[in-house]
Amino acid sequence: MSPSAWPLEPDPEELSALTARVAAFVVDQVRSLAEQPSFDLDGVEAVRESFREPRPPESAQALEAILERLRPAIAKSYNAAGPGYLAYIPGGGIYAAALAALVASAVNRYVGVTPAAPALVEIERAVTRWLCDWMGLPATAQGLLTSGGSLSNFSAVVAARHEKLGDELAGGRIYYSEETHHCVAKAARLAGFPRASLRPLPTDSRFRLLPEALENAVREDQARGLRPFLVVANVGTTNTGAIDPLDDVLRIARAQGLWVHADAAYGGFFRLAPGGEELLRGVEECDSITLDPHKGLFMPYGIGALLVRDGSTLARAHRESADYVQDVSEAGSLGFADLSPELSRDFRGLRVWLPIQLHGLAPFRAALAEKLALARWACGELRADERFEVLDEPQLSIVAFRLRGPAEQGERLGPELLRRVNERRRVFLSSTRLRGRYALRICVLSFRTHADRLRDAVSALREEARALLG
Ligand SMILES: *Cc1c(COP(=O)(O)O)cnc(C)c1O
Repeated sequence: MSPSAWPLEPDPEELSALTARVAAFVVDQVRSLAEQPSFDLDGVEAVRESFREPRPPESAQALEAILERLRPAIAKSYNAAGPGYLAYIPGGGIYAAALAALVASAVNRYVGVTPAAPALVEIERAVTRWLCDWMGLPATAQGLLTSGGSLSNFSAVVAARHEKLGDELAGGRIYYSEETHHCVAKAARLAGFPRASLRPLPTDSRFRLLPEALENAVREDQARGLRPFLVVANVGTTNTGAIDPLDDVLRIARAQGLWVHADAAYGGFFRLAPGGEELLRGVEECDSITLDPHKGLFMPYGIGALLVRDGSTLARAHRESADYVQDVSEAGSLGFADLSPELSRDFRGLRVWLPIQLHGLAPFRAALAEKLALARWACGELRADERFEVLDEPQLSIVAFRLRGPAEQGERLGPELLRRVNERRRVFLSSTRLRGRYALRICVLSFRTHADRLRDAVSALREEARALLG
């Protein structure tokens, strides 16, 4: 490759050559995903050490050599993109989104304020409009793409705070079940609420918020002169996929004038599957909803979403102005920068829009339906084995279970079972604690996970459980 006069601006021929090399590299990575181990950290320390460079190079390095350095760094990891990734909450990362990222970064237009790229902003608006429609929100709703569920939950707390408490935060109280994702407590603290403002509440036998507990806590706090203002309801908890009783939560919250935020980061997109509307009934009534396209829409990491029922609330909570943006802040034209803490940001809308255009929505619906079915299948298989205790019928696509037997045996053998199953490197499962006891989880959400891989997971569990328990 001939060095050009301006090395930061390779000529078109060089650009094509560089792009072709990267394309060959990533296609090779993606093609081999199913054969790659489900995780591999053997010898990662040496690879890690090789990147502790005190100074960057002053002169150019060959792309080929750079990519070769990346290869082991990618390999020595949890294979979060592969079909065996059943830990935490996977998404997989559909390839079309990577193509969109390339386009968005290469053209590098600015979408934070509408006048800077009106039609591109409209693409992202179309995406957020679709999300609102899929969740059953009215035409007055508005959405925003964020970097992930944590930031969505943060802006939701800020919007609720602004609407319900104004500038006086003292006495504000936030309610949610003990099974709620820890980023909600983080969001509340970042939004100015001390720990004493947070009211984690007990759940029922299926890990769903107990409505009586909510009702009592709100009444108690009101009697003490405090200011209940927000309930965060789960539409799919991370531990077990539990869906809080939205009808009850909405009834109690409405009677007291509380904002209801649905954390549907994991579960929301199941509304696209057949029967999904019934499954997530009530989500369409909530004041705000967090979704994570990088989970249930199989996008790569870095795409979350926040939807608000009354579209004007986000701007009221976030908008600021400054003289140097006077040329681009036309009256009545709100840009994404007015709705969120971000000003400069990537064109993340294209990473959702392009894949949906390229594939159509039908395969996404089908993949979501497949995940629900796979989790039900795995649940049935584990139930049929007397060595396992399934902790709940899957409400979505997570199966939580433990070895049957006394608690202290589970504490000892549970982690060993997990270690042995994962050590086979076909699947990667994770553990948690439920009601204080060790539990394992199978979380099916990647579009790459199919029946064959679930069969591997179940047979590995059965064989290793038999080896451990006899
Ligand atoms: C993943 C998750 C979050 C956090 O979202 P990030 O995108 O990881 O920031 C919040 N709530 C639930 C229920 C989740 O599953």
